[in-house]
Amino acid sequence: MLSCITSVKEGMEISTELPENYVPKRILHDWTDHPVGGVGTPWWLKCDKYIEIACFSCGCNLRCPQCQNWTTTYCGKGRPISPSEAARITTYMRKRYRVNRMAISGGESTLNRKWLLSYVKTLKELNQDSDVRIHIDTNATILTRDYIDELVDVGMTDIGPDLKGLKVETFMRITGIKDRELAEKYLKTSWDAFRYLVDNYKERLFIGVGIPYNKALISMDEMIMIGERVAKIDESVQICVLDYRPEFRNVTISRPSYTEMLNVWKTLKGIGLKTVICQTSLGYIGP
Ligand code: SF4
Repeated sequence: MLSCITSVKEGMEISTELPENYVPKRILHDWTDHPVGGVGTPWWLKCDKYIEIACFSCGCNLRCPQCQNWTTTYCGKGRPISPSEAARITTYMRKRYRVNRMAISGGESTLNRKWLLSYVKTLKELNQDSDVRIHIDTNATILTRDYIDELVDVGMTDIGPDLKGLKVETFMRITGIKDRELAEKYLKTSWDAFRYLVDNYKERLFIGVGIPYNKALISMDEMIMIGERVAKIDESVQICVLDYRPEFRNVTISRPSYTEMLNVWKTLKGIGLKTVICQTSLGYIGP
């Protein structure tokens, strides 16, 4: 039975065990060459040339009304592929564009844990000839400590976790999650993932944090609280503030102006954060 289309009924016995030789699959989009990269791309690499190959996984556990990549996130069409097939395509594209970075974003890249671990492991095996970077951008809401350990073990080198608020009300507004208990769990997991990454892998991984900003979704007071909390964990971590624009089911918000984003940048820098980049309609501000 396909679990994604089978209704749960009273008395049903549900097993999530899969056969040992089961090969997980995912639908991926795009494999584009990228001149900017994502949240977990070091700012000093962002330039006019291609710097990384990125692919995008369909599906997400969040329901952000203004999802910036909704055509991929909510797409269930396409041929699901195995980790080894995906890794071969990514490797081919990396060589074709002569870059050393390979990224996966989404949708949510960390869904289907077995698939992602196998994908990163295969990428590492196929690219031993060069100094490659394997980069994962994630909403970090299911990124538990043991999952992080496993990703590092198989070859992840760069990661961009999102912190979509500090208050649960803000997180629920931004992500469209209506179940408060679930929202609290997701928000706690994402902050815990960030702290765990800094405490345990700061020397080994590149860590860049994504924070959304739009005054209709999050207040400046909360941005300040987020900045202060991040600074307490690591004042030198790269922060990328994303100017959330009208998209998908939330077209009534306005894209933050350049001046608003400059104000966010000055405020976060004023808190003592050393590396702040703000995305704007006119290009990046910072660091
Ligand atoms: S976490 Fe990202 S991919 Fe998922 S719904 Fe939100 S904006 Fe879209």
